[in-house]
Formats: sequence, structure tokens, C-alpha cells
Amino acid sequence: MHEASIADGLLRTAISVCRDNGFSRIEIVRIRIGRASGVMPESLLFAFDALKAETIASESSLVIEEVPVAGYCNTCKRDFTVSGSFILCCPYCSSNSFTVKSGRELDIIEVEVGEDEVKDCLKDT
Ligand SMILES: [Zn+2]
Repeated sequence: MHEASIADGLLRTAISVCRDNGFSRIEIVRIRIGRASGVMPESLLFAFDALKAETIASESSLVIEEVPVAGYCNTCKRDFTVSGSFILCCPYCSSNSFTVKSGRELDIIEVEVGEDEVKDCLKDT
């Protein structure tokens, strides 16, 4: 499943960001998904929840922000957004000369982390 490999990649990235910064627990992973990316948010959430078990992200939540598909019409020079997952033509003048400006995003916006206990390196020896 497509979403499973994406969820796996998101988890790996979030875990390495967390560890690189010296934290031991992931609380929230916020991502941005464009409607034209072909990723189904429900499937991604399901895959994330299945994969996070046994990792430092086991108690975390995946928060998804959906980005609408937006374009710029080269004929009437207007910006527009569409409700679906792709652009057929400009909604104002029906021109099919347009530039897709957003909707293909698949980005991690933020990883919120925390610490469970005092880190080993801070303990007295
Ligand atoms: Zn137009």
C-alpha cells in the first residue's frame, strides 16, 4: 500500500529529528498534504497508527493539514482553487492553459517532542 511506505518514511524522519535533538518521545507529527498528491489522509492515519507501535512515537498523533489544489490561469491571469484533486480548466474562462501552484505537497511541518526522564548523560556516575 502506497500510504504505508509514506507513513514509514514520515515516522523515520520524525524519529531521527527527535533523536538528533536529544529527545526521547514524539508527541505530535504535523504534516501538510496536497489534494493532488494522491495520498488518502484516512489511509495514511491508519498506516501511521499501525507502524508507530514499538517506536518512540508510539504515543504520538499524526495531524494532517490538507492543502487545496490551486492554479493560475495563463489566459485570464487569475488565481483559483478547485475542490477536487485535479484541475481540468480555469473555472473563470475555461482555458486549459494554467499553471498548478499548489496541491502536490507532502511535507512535515513540525515534530513536537518530549522527554520521558532525565537523560543518561546527565546522571551522576
Ligand atoms: Zn482563466
